[in-house]
Amino acid sequence: MSTESHATADQPISLTAPSGIDRAAHHRLDEAWLAAAWSHPTTRVFVVSGGRALVDDTADGRTELVMTPAFDAPLTETHRYFLGTDENGVRYFALQKDTLPGRMDQSARPAGLREAGMLLSPRDAGLLAHAVALENWQRLHRFCSRCGERTVIAAAGHVRRCQACGAEHYPRTDPAVIMLITDDEDRALLGRQLHWPEGRFSTLAGFVEPGESVEQAVRREVQEEAGVTVGDVEYVASQPWPFPSSLMLGFMARATSAGITVDGEELHEARWFSRDELTEAFESGEVLPPFGISIAARLIEMWYGKPLPKPGTAPAA
Ligand SMILES: [Zn+2]
Repeated sequence: MSTESHATADQPISLTAPSGIDRAAHHRLDEAWLAAAWSHPTTRVFVVSGGRALVDDTADGRTELVMTPAFDAPLTETHRYFLGTDENGVRYFALQKDTLPGRMDQSARPAGLREAGMLLSPRDAGLLAHAVALENWQRLHRFCSRCGERTVIAAAGHVRRCQACGAEHYPRTDPAVIMLITDDEDRALLGRQLHWPEGRFSTLAGFVEPGESVEQAVRREVQEEAGVTVGDVEYVASQPWPFPSSLMLGFMARATSAGITVDGEELHEARWFSRDELTEAFESGEVLPPFGISIAARLIEMWYGKPLPKPGTAPAA
């Protein structure tokens, strides 16, 4: 399952590049090491709240997470997540809080992964994804699924422990498949979900069910949603999607039937597009490109052969 052979689109898949962070999981239970790391002057800390953190623009036009040394970080009523170290030995922590701290800098602003994921460096995007995923999991798992009693945070944010029965609970990740289906004429199958705005088309996607392989999930979802049967399925790449806890597994797959019957529940509409038809639809404004950060946009680009128009730049009809 080579991802390199597919990594030829002009833009890399967001949140897939190496982040340069060693998660250093062996330190998570070492309270003395964590305390020393926390108070070290080179340590960097950011606050995560409701899936967002403060980001700021740099003088050279980049966007980065606003991070401070630990002694500057707000410390009341917080959950502290150890996220890892970089090649220079800098330790990174996130603090989960009910609100983001106020900032004097005018350009600093709250942003989530959807807005900032494309702008941040792979390091900062990876740190934010890690922190947001932990925050979402912590928020939804305050009680023990074995006995129903309260759980407490442990292992620097990576475990919740039940004080009544001793059960340890680990962060969950829900696998989801997202796939670009092509037919014998090399057209792409794109669909529009019910709640999407008019004109927004993207790849099909769905969750992997219990007892199912990801290949089976690809075939089942496409059959259920669009009535199209699928033969060969090839893995491309994955992307963390902590909204709240998904891992998007991206595939290219080949249809063995062409007739479309949408289910009317997940999908409102589905169509086969040739490259020329999609270009025309973009240019006329009939079809809006998928959101930039999503692996869906990269899958479509791999088939399309060049970058898709940026949202809002397609000239109106
Ligand atoms: Zn319990």
